[in-house]
Amino acid sequence: MSKLPFPQVRNIVTDLPGPKSEAFAKRKQDAVSACVATQNPIYAQYAGGGVIVDLDGNSFIDMGSGIAVTTVGASNERVAKAIKEQADKFTHTCFMTTPYEGYVEVCEFLNQATPGDFPKRSVLLNSGSEAVENAVKVARRFTGKPAVAAFEHAYHGRTNLTMAMTAKVDPYKSGYGPFAPEIYRMPMSNPYRDGLDGDQAAKRTINWLEKMIGAKSLACIVIEPLQGEGGFIVPAPGFLQNLAKWAKENDVVFVADEVQCGYGRTGKMFDSEWEGIEPDVICTAKGIAGGMPLSAITGREEIMNAGVPGGLGGTYGGNPVSCAAALAVAESIKNDGLLEVAQKFEQIISKRMGDLAARDNRIGDVRGRGAMMAIELVDEAGAPDAALAKEIQKRAYQAGVILLSCGTEGNVIRMLPPLSMPEELLEEALGVIEEILKEI
Ligand SMILES: *Cc1c(COP(=O)(O)O)cnc(C)c1O
Repeated sequence: MSKLPFPQVRNIVTDLPGPKSEAFAKRKQDAVSACVATQNPIYAQYAGGGVIVDLDGNSFIDMGSGIAVTTVGASNERVAKAIKEQADKFTHTCFMTTPYEGYVEVCEFLNQATPGDFPKRSVLLNSGSEAVENAVKVARRFTGKPAVAAFEHAYHGRTNLTMAMTAKVDPYKSGYGPFAPEIYRMPMSNPYRDGLDGDQAAKRTINWLEKMIGAKSLACIVIEPLQGEGGFIVPAPGFLQNLAKWAKENDVVFVADEVQCGYGRTGKMFDSEWEGIEPDVICTAKGIAGGMPLSAITGREEIMNAGVPGGLGGTYGGNPVSCAAALAVAESIKNDGLLEVAQKFEQIISKRMGDLAARDNRIGDVRGRGAMMAIELVDEAGAPDAALAKEIQKRAYQAGVILLSCGTEGNVIRMLPPLSMPEELLEEALGVIEEILKEI
């Protein structure tokens, strides 16, 4: 890792928010739609390694990576260099009018890096939602069928189609309908809550698929192999394999939404690899380009080629600067050994949070993979405790740790450290969580 111009420390030097951030928070209130929420009113000045430094010089440990985006760090040297070099050459031509190398190279990389040894093709887009939209498009075009199966607790985005596929009403959907038709909600495997093993959970879901939709109408199953916003729910082993097998037997396209869990985050390049599944189509975004807007779908050649030329694309999709960043991210993951770092982070987090859970029954579950780990907070009856999650988050912020929550019930604290974080800082952040639980 490069030497960053700010120290890798947790250091709060003003009341929070400090005066400079507070001034911007006021300006935000007057300039930005109130529907765009900001978790903490601190404005970033620098970010990188494992910290975010605000305008007032407060240095926070970053346990969120801008929602699983800056996996290689928010000021990764390789990424910054690639961006500068490409920006000096050109920032846009539109791949559909005058193509360029970077777009093709990112597609080549995705085709070989995604699981499955079969001919593939990719399309580059701008956001996770757009990737999911396009996965549904190609599945419908290829199968000639209309229906889409999504899951409980799913999060797929905020556009009209992906809102319909997202499970949680508030804040994502309420008042924003009518929603796209032909979306069906299926039961998710959730071992901590349903107690079913992978075979049992898959049997239940497949029964729903057959009874509530029918394979004759079903274009695709869209599933996050490790759910993100919905609570970092890891399905029971075998669940995904059973679903993928059923999809194959029934001419249904199996789509893995790896927007959050993919691209090295869970200690393999794609999370699907942990379960040994080979999705027909994979959606990638968030961690792909170090924060530059880029997303992709990668899938079986025959599915991806099913439409007509011009049927897929977009003005900005696969922007050359974003592509240069994506190639640098891939290089960083490989050459800086970041998959191993993600696996090491899992060991560190599961050990400390596991020990804590063993003596504190407010932590009902510790789960996740790689640098995508969570604790689920519960009350004495085992019911979701969102108030506790909120309180931990608030106190962590005051102590200089940026922590995100998630879960349909809002009672899950998720940990998404950048893989550029020094291990001591990760340990320190976990120590802060332990201290907070002691205090409350
Ligand atoms: C964030 C996310 C999306 C939406 O991505 P945007 O870039 O915000 O549109 C889709 N699916 C999953 C699993 C996500 O985590």
